Amino acid sequence: MSNTHYDVAVIGAGMVGATLASLLSRSGFSVALVESREPEAFDAGAEVGLRVSAISPGSQAILEQAGAWKAISSQRARPYRRMQVEDGVDMDPLLFDAPVFNLERLGTIVENALVQWSLWQVLNAGGLVDLYCPDQLAGIEASKQHNRVLLQGGKTLTASLVVGADGAASRVRKSLGIRQDHYAYNQSGLVAAVGKSQANPGVAWQRFLPGGPLAFLPLSDGRSSIVWTQPTAEAERLLQLDSEEFGKELDVASSGWLGAVESCGPRAAFPLSMRLSENYAARRVVLIGDAAHVVHPLAGQGVNLGFADAAGLTEILLGVRSSGEDIGSSRVLRKYERWRKSESEAMAFGMHALRSLFGIDGLSPARRFGMAMVKRSWLLRDKFLQRAAGLAANAPALAKGETLRSLIQR
Ligand SMILES: Cc1cc2nc3c(=O)[nH]c(=O)nc-3n(C[C@H](O)[C@H](O)[C@H](O)COP(=O)(O)OP(=O)(O)OC[C@H]3O[C@@H](n4cnc5c(N)ncnc54)[C@H](O)[C@@H]3O)c2cc1C
Repeated sequence: MSNTHYDVAVIGAGMVGATLASLLSRSGFSVALVESREPEAFDAGAEVGLRVSAISPGSQAILEQAGAWKAISSQRARPYRRMQVEDGVDMDPLLFDAPVFNLERLGTIVENALVQWSLWQVLNAGGLVDLYCPDQLAGIEASKQHNRVLLQGGKTLTASLVVGADGAASRVRKSLGIRQDHYAYNQSGLVAAVGKSQANPGVAWQRFLPGGPLAFLPLSDGRSSIVWTQPTAEAERLLQLDSEEFGKELDVASSGWLGAVESCGPRAAFPLSMRLSENYAARRVVLIGDAAHVVHPLAGQGVNLGFADAAGLTEILLGVRSSGEDIGSSRVLRKYERWRKSESEAMAFGMHALRSLFGIDGLSPARRFGMAMVKRSWLLRDKFLQRAAGLAANAPALAKGETLRSLIQR
């Protein structure tokens, strides 16, 4: 492929943009993918990366259709079949077990770098996508028939639809002048790979503490990837401690879970916020992934929402193509926006409410009532789990197991 007009130009080849590019190109759309940084080759012998994600079963199904899941799951990926949630007060934990919800697993913990690299390999091997990398978006000029995409390297592409998958600081979103509500939590997520005296048996464990939730997510070598949410100043203090001191504080915070801390890899902290864009679409452009929405990571849903955006957009565009409609028409854009905006806002506000409920004093009646309600109500737990698994009624067909082939033939 060497033309410079495309059905779709995707800006940003992070996990979400690369997934969309793969799904669309495998569906027969001509696709340009612009990325400023080529991902580093994944080295399975190197230390586990600091950024990991809990990939839901729905996202796994999407990545299967994008052609990347086999490579991901054959390397450093760890499925988990139990989720254990403690409120730090009542020692009777809330348990979610996969078989109870008719699932083979609740999710898989993988390094972000492995997901991105596996997708990159698929895109390179398939030869179906024109990669513009390293290059960056310089600007978008909208017109009635198509958009002109100007790259900093001097090239100009035209596309019927431009997709902003360029992350939280999205240049695409800014160039459209789309407003965003930004709620800074003044909290950071401290991450590290931690070994305890007992290996993690494949459980995603989370304890709500006064400063914020502490999660231990199982890694393939028996260690856990931790995400410890703390007020930013406290996270900074924890980063400054030597590993022995840090281990002692982590022991106290995670007491009773898998014994004592025995090892701790490099640490880093990421500021946490909720960002919701006022619009997800305008002038032949749509936003997906963190470019459209950023949610609190306490239920590990950020990139899962992004994968669902990619799958949902693919489903809409395939439907439009079969009817001969312009894929960049305002009707198509609105359809995408209505669907995905309501889904991600529901998730963002749900996370916000959970964070607020558990962020208040441990003995507060509201918090204890909330936990007791969830424990008693199978329906509530089921609803929560279906959504977290990416399998709720309104999820994209690809997340619910439909193949690209059958979507194309619809
Ligand atoms: C501590 C922490 C833990 C988390 N844990 C989870 C979890 O367990 N599960 C989960 O689902 N989510 C989790 N998340 C959220 C998740 O990491 C993000 O939602 C996800 O990485 C967003 O992916 P993306 O592809 O949309 O954006 P990004 O990863 O930001 O990718 C954007 C891409 O666009 C490129 N780019 C940017 N600007 C330009 C430009 N102008 N031109 C060309 N290219 C450009 C960038 O180089 C990058 O490759 C967590 C987040 C944090 C902070």
